[in-house]
Amino acid sequence: MPLMPRPAARPGLDAGGRGGGRGGGRGGGRGGAGPQALIRHLNRVALLRLLRDAPGLSRAELAQRSGLSRSTVGLLVQELIDAGWLTEDAAEATGARGRRPTPLRLDGRGFALVGAELAPGVMRAVVLSVQGQELHAEAQALSTHEVDAVCRQLGDFVHAVSTRAQRTFGRQVLGVGVGLPGAVDAASGVLRVAPNLGWRDVPVAAMLQATLGRDAEPAAPPPLVLVQNDADLAALGEMEFGPRPVASPLVYVSCGIGLGSGIVVDGSLFTGASGAAGEVGHTTLRPGGRPCSCGRRGCAEAYVGLRALAAQAMPGHAGIDHDGLRERLQRRDADTVAAFRQAGRDLGVLLHNLWALVDPQLFVLGGESVVLGGDDLVEPARQGLAACAGEAGLAAPPLRVARSGEKAIAIGGAALVLRHLLQARPAEGLD
Ligand SMILES: [Zn+2]
Repeated sequence: MPLMPRPAARPGLDAGGRGGGRGGGRGGGRGGAGPQALIRHLNRVALLRLLRDAPGLSRAELAQRSGLSRSTVGLLVQELIDAGWLTEDAAEATGARGRRPTPLRLDGRGFALVGAELAPGVMRAVVLSVQGQELHAEAQALSTHEVDAVCRQLGDFVHAVSTRAQRTFGRQVLGVGVGLPGAVDAASGVLRVAPNLGWRDVPVAAMLQATLGRDAEPAAPPPLVLVQNDADLAALGEMEFGPRPVASPLVYVSCGIGLGSGIVVDGSLFTGASGAAGEVGHTTLRPGGRPCSCGRRGCAEAYVGLRALAAQAMPGHAGIDHDGLRERLQRRDADTVAAFRQAGRDLGVLLHNLWALVDPQLFVLGGESVVLGGDDLVEPARQGLAACAGEAGLAAPPLRVARSGEKAIAIGGAALVLRHLLQARPAEGLD
């Protein structure tokens, strides 16, 4: 069974069902595309986005809100229903005067989004509906950092999860989004540098694409595989599937072995010139301080990163003993609690610096250290931020904990796929 749909059945916005048309998507080209095709794509995306934000709108309301004519909306809605993206709710009868307009909503029950995270020591994956509902989640330990072995294991893992999405849930996988622990060139799919893996310039997307496409028929377009920095993805997941209206700028700080931040401004990720924006783990917290995985000294990661935290909490233990840390926190072991609180205070300094730099409307804290430490990490950070703000006579921006715990990055991977399909421009340039 091919993992990804064949061209005739590719469930992109411009294909599928009776709507017909040729498939789009990464690497698949957009045959026959021209100005008309672009306009149709943009209009479909506009309607889907309107219905995602306000389910239940009728065709007439869609026409009013989009500025499109009622006949155009009627045509496009029918195409989107045929392609499986929209469904009609039952129209309520209103007596002798006739029927009320039919409410429409996003459907996509035949589709699935796959998101994954590659972190030092572990891989996680989720299968989500296009509405962000979790259908499946799993994790797998990673015993090596060797590039080929890790990419092979990641490929097999994501392949197995995608196959499950098809076979168990009967859904076509629209694409796979993967969060990577470092600076990522999203356009080329290359992981530029990941200090905690010791990797440089690894074409992760191409390697995954080869694995995922191995069962596909020769004529099938390559599967959609997108990669992005892990904290950026977590931020994206909060934005796409979180409460609305979305705060802007939203700064997501991911606290694990590495520290990263994802910055979303007006609905778009701010990734910098080389995909390394927001790498707060390598900002200097103590000049000349502890050595860091990146080669510098005194980086925030060397104080707030989980490896550093574990070394403080459980001196003499090699590596990170998650269960040991959890157990010690539960029984309120003084050294462990003190280590998390000190890391929290350092994190507060980091947040203060980020606040001065970005002026976010909202901070979101996530990552495995936050899941593990809870308030022992978060509250000192919150208090540190508030204290810094108070000294300047200001109120710090609100800070909340991520909704999805350890799955935040994988969920962000699924959000990336949805976003790619619903972006204002088609996936590939016009022919
Ligand atoms: Zn560093």
